[in-house]
Amino acid sequence: MRFYPLFVGTFFLVSLIATVPVFHEYVVLRSQFEIECAKPIQDYVCFQDRPDRDGECQKSDPDFPNADLEFIRVFLNSPPLVKQATCSLERINFVHYLDQAPGGLFYEDGQMSIAWSMLKNREFLFADRVLWAHAGYKFKDLFVKYADRRELWIEFQQSKEPDLVFDPGFAVAYAHEIAHHIEQIYLQNGPQHCTKTDQAANSTIAPSNNCSFLESKSQAKISIDLDKDSGFTRAYDICSPKEQFAQAFSAYVFKHHFGFSFNIYADGQLALAQNDIFTAAKFTQKLDLAEALLSYDMTSPEVRLQLSQDHESCRGPFAIN
Ligand SMILES: [Zn+2]
Repeated sequence: MRFYPLFVGTFFLVSLIATVPVFHEYVVLRSQFEIECAKPIQDYVCFQDRPDRDGECQKSDPDFPNADLEFIRVFLNSPPLVKQATCSLERINFVHYLDQAPGGLFYEDGQMSIAWSMLKNREFLFADRVLWAHAGYKFKDLFVKYADRRELWIEFQQSKEPDLVFDPGFAVAYAHEIAHHIEQIYLQNGPQHCTKTDQAANSTIAPSNNCSFLESKSQAKISIDLDKDSGFTRAYDICSPKEQFAQAFSAYVFKHHFGFSFNIYADGQLALAQNDIFTAAKFTQKLDLAEALLSYDMTSPEVRLQLSQDHESCRGPFAIN
């Protein structure tokens, strides 16, 4: 039997050409993460089968090698505030089965838990993710009605070329969850602080849509066809300043930082236009808060401390108008 070194050599070279750029990208992105956070991604990552904040951590899983790649791409595209908040997480859990989190990820006391499916299925549930992250449980009506997500579709555009191609569905959901962490570490007095009172905000919407009315009807199905300030919601969200802040933060980052515009359709009808979120009375103050937070460059510990202090005393970008 003759041996063909040229053929073997060519095969080896072709394999190498195909694998080296991916591996090279991986090495480069991981080192960029380490530069930003002054800690390698391995120090954060915890692989788990089921979510368990005090449970054992696997540092890697042979069934999902490079699971952190999509995460790092979104991280590197994110605004400085999101990067800093991510670096300050205690742990990032990549959870194989995360059925109990409808968004595919959740934040709790310094830990971010992310389902494997979020990091694998690019754009597959993009419409889902946008609705979940921006409209929160407002999305429940659509979620229940359109159990088959193929009936929901999103038309979107991105006005600027991202530095790295990333999954917008994961990015939009991550921006929502990291907002809960941002609130915890920078907004000691909560997202309501430095805003006009809730009664004032409530007075701008019809009495039949205020919080006490919605809470009394929280189990009732509220149609998405009602008015746009509250029509696609339930009391859980519209009356929770924390959820409103996370939704508004995600919406703001998605539009102004990533440059996305979108419309979501169900049954061929427009179900949610991006502008509905930006004009909803309940969101306006939280959008202003997101903008104020994102105006800090976050480059030094002094700036980060300044941010907390400014919010505490309602000065600078947090001044009440
Ligand atoms: Zn939330």
